[in-house]
Amino acid sequence: MSDRIEAAKIPPPVLDALDALNAAGCEAVLVGGCVRDLLMGRTPSDFDVCTAALPEQTEAVFAGKRLIETGLKHGTVTVLAGGLPLEITTYRVDGSYSDSRRPDSVAFTPSLTEDLARRDFTVNAMAWSPSGGLVDPFGGQADLAAGLLRCVGEPERRFTEDALRILRALRFSATLGFSIDIETGNALRRLAERLEFVSAERVCSELCKLICGPKAADVILEYADVLGVVLPELLPLRSFDQRNPHHCYDALTHSVRAMEQLPPEPVLRWAGLLHDVAKPETFTLDEDGIGHFYGHPQRGAEKCDALCRRLRFDNAGRERVCELVRLHDRWIEPKEASVRRALSRMGPELFFQLMRLKRADVLALAPECRDRLAVYDRVEALANAQLAAGAALSLRELAVSGRDLIAIGYQPGPALGQALAALLDAVLDGSVENEKDALLRLAELRLSDDRPDDQPAGATLCGRPPKRFPPTPQGAIP
Ligand code: ATP
Ligand code: MG
Repeated sequence: MSDRIEAAKIPPPVLDALDALNAAGCEAVLVGGCVRDLLMGRTPSDFDVCTAALPEQTEAVFAGKRLIETGLKHGTVTVLAGGLPLEITTYRVDGSYSDSRRPDSVAFTPSLTEDLARRDFTVNAMAWSPSGGLVDPFGGQADLAAGLLRCVGEPERRFTEDALRILRALRFSATLGFSIDIETGNALRRLAERLEFVSAERVCSELCKLICGPKAADVILEYADVLGVVLPELLPLRSFDQRNPHHCYDALTHSVRAMEQLPPEPVLRWAGLLHDVAKPETFTLDEDGIGHFYGHPQRGAEKCDALCRRLRFDNAGRERVCELVRLHDRWIEPKEASVRRALSRMGPELFFQLMRLKRADVLALAPECRDRLAVYDRVEALANAQLAAGAALSLRELAVSGRDLIAIGYQPGPALGQALAALLDAVLDGSVENEKDALLRLAELRLSDDRPDDQPAGATLCGRPPKRFPPTPQGAIP
């Protein structure tokens, strides 16, 4: 870790804003996460400027620029600098807290140290400017070097003021890989119940960042009690012995180990964390003493749906997490037709996400199960080959259209749709090429068939009913 910040790492419009405030006689600094990240050699996600200038002075300094005043009552003026919004906030002290979340009032102060004192952790309570260098009244730099998260001030009081800080501590621990100072850790455990005061949206956004952190698995295992206040679904997984030879971990450890195998994207990580969430409630023991979990993917998807709604996930994310959990045990045979069928039903994006989840699941099982990865390699290779070959996976890609079928005598209506679906089914199955003449011949056969209209599509077309996903072979996938 460097103890210096190079101005060259800071976007010029940010430095220009500091200069403009200085030129007007107002102290101005970078503060919080960006200083922490710059000291760690990381690229900050955003730059926060703090200043002794009152909001109206800041507005006067940037009079020629586009200003956004939405944060004005908290002392924040947003300046569009070089196309990007830059938040400039007047130094402030927070008043008393009565809702465990937000100060009842804020007051402006000319003192930078007072402003830094209201910040959550020492590593987030440093300021820097080209003229004044680093300002670090609470030992943030030393904690950064030691990889330690420590509250500014008295931890009990700080978490009582604002319970969101409890989750922020876990989130920074997971993302930065820092350990939590003993007193800070004890206080957040004691006050964990206060997380109930935090809005679902804030909980969700912190948890999404947390589970994407490189140390998320360790943090979840170490602070399962605390996280259990907002994710009570995790608690029954803890110490849950699956009584199954495939499993070398308890259910929570398995879940987080699977989760950490996945790329740091919230949807995938949530699916990894929650894929076995219904195992405890679907557990049965057979006469040989082996544990089974029949129906856990479906039940798990239902639990995920409730969890995601409670945390106010966006709809697309919720649906995708639930779908992945519902499908995670689906066995896809390494055969062209099975793979085409799965691609057609899921679409390529979900298909490949599911394969990632299935791999992650295997990697968190007993090592003897790893040979399944070779099967997944074959499934994915087949899928890639099908996509590269432009295989028809949907009605749109079929070499005949409804119009073509009408031209050979079909009537518009449900039977036409059924015929097209049956043709696609036959193509997916590999029993006919996706080729216009061949498909029309098959459609003609179907037309001449005196089959009643309500017979399922495909029943007579290829001499057998359309295939569904084959069930998971018993005991093949836990
Ligand atoms: P990120 O990399 O996620 O942006 P950050 O530390 O910049 O991390 P922000 O939420 O952007 O986090 O907040 C900016 C700064 O504001 C923090 O570094 C911290 O100093 C302060 N801060 C944010 N939230 C709180 C809070 N709940 N209590 C006290 N200080 C806070
Ligand atoms: Mg930030």
